[in-house]
Amino acid sequence: MLVVMKTGASPEQISRVLEAISVLDLTPHPMPGATRTAIGITGNTGAVDSRQLEVLDGVKECIRVTKPFKLASREMHPADTALDLKQGKIGPDTFTVIAGPCSVENEAMILRTSEFLVQNGIRFLRAGAFKPRTSPYAFQGMGLEGLKILQKAREKTGIGIVTELMDTEHAAAFEDAVDIIQIGTRNMQNFSLLKRVGQTRKPVLLKRGMSATLEDWLMAAEYIMAGGNYQVILCERGVRTFSDHSRNTLDLSVIPPAKALSHLPIFVDPSHGTGKRAYVPAMSLAALASGADGLIIEAHPEPDRALSDGAQSLDFKGLQALMASLRQMAPLLGRKMS
Ligand code: PEP
Ligand code: MN
Repeated sequence: MLVVMKTGASPEQISRVLEAISVLDLTPHPMPGATRTAIGITGNTGAVDSRQLEVLDGVKECIRVTKPFKLASREMHPADTALDLKQGKIGPDTFTVIAGPCSVENEAMILRTSEFLVQNGIRFLRAGAFKPRTSPYAFQGMGLEGLKILQKAREKTGIGIVTELMDTEHAAAFEDAVDIIQIGTRNMQNFSLLKRVGQTRKPVLLKRGMSATLEDWLMAAEYIMAGGNYQVILCERGVRTFSDHSRNTLDLSVIPPAKALSHLPIFVDPSHGTGKRAYVPAMSLAALASGADGLIIEAHPEPDRALSDGAQSLDFKGLQALMASLRQMAPLLGRKMS
């Protein structure tokens, strides 16, 4: 349910509504807006008589939210969500590129990559310190040592860090070390992990599960938001289909319905989506045209020597060429490259 306060409702009136919601054993989520405050309500709202809240001073109306995802829904929050990060704004009129290697491999390559990105106007570095690999014999990532390297890159260059959290046990370490916490496709329905990142106040890039429907995905976002962390970025990274010409089937057709149902920003990962670097530029431009708010792209100083996902990683020249195309195309679609 959504309680819409009248324009000019006083802070005292708002607090009284928050208290009345808590007394009903429900959770209030205040959402201050430009002209008035709305208060989302989560919990078992089925039995609540909305008139109980509508009679309170300062309340304009109560609206039932019909979708099972509440805080993630556009019914609850009609305007597109923008995230304000130190490194820049994400969505809805900006287009943000996150780039970097699949894995943190050593300090030198991370520093070299960060410097290259900053010089080319890219403000976020992606690189996994903890890697979810299909084979237990494959490189598993540098772990906490990798996280320290990422912190060093941030200190030296000011670049924002995006990296995957795989286990709740490392959540506290991530809160200090990273700017955006990535949840991988394999963990999209790891509910204890989702609840844990819901307790942090860091933006979360939530990759779509490789067999998740749009509703499954938005319900996963809801888990994070129900904990009070409203800074969720959805990320389409390809789903499993019968097709075998690419690693996954990048489902760009999910973007318009996701935008219709949800106010959250959406990124696209054309690297995992295709699995082949030759296909990455076309899918990146298509993502921009489809209404995405940004990209997360794998790029490596020497892709052929990468410890993971080299085949889908652009080299620096390839990334520069793609950035030039995106910069030409973004203004035509009313987006500023951030
Ligand atoms: C990654 O970003 O390197 C990764 C493992 O992504 P996904 O969870 O989409 O497979
Ligand atoms: Mn990867």
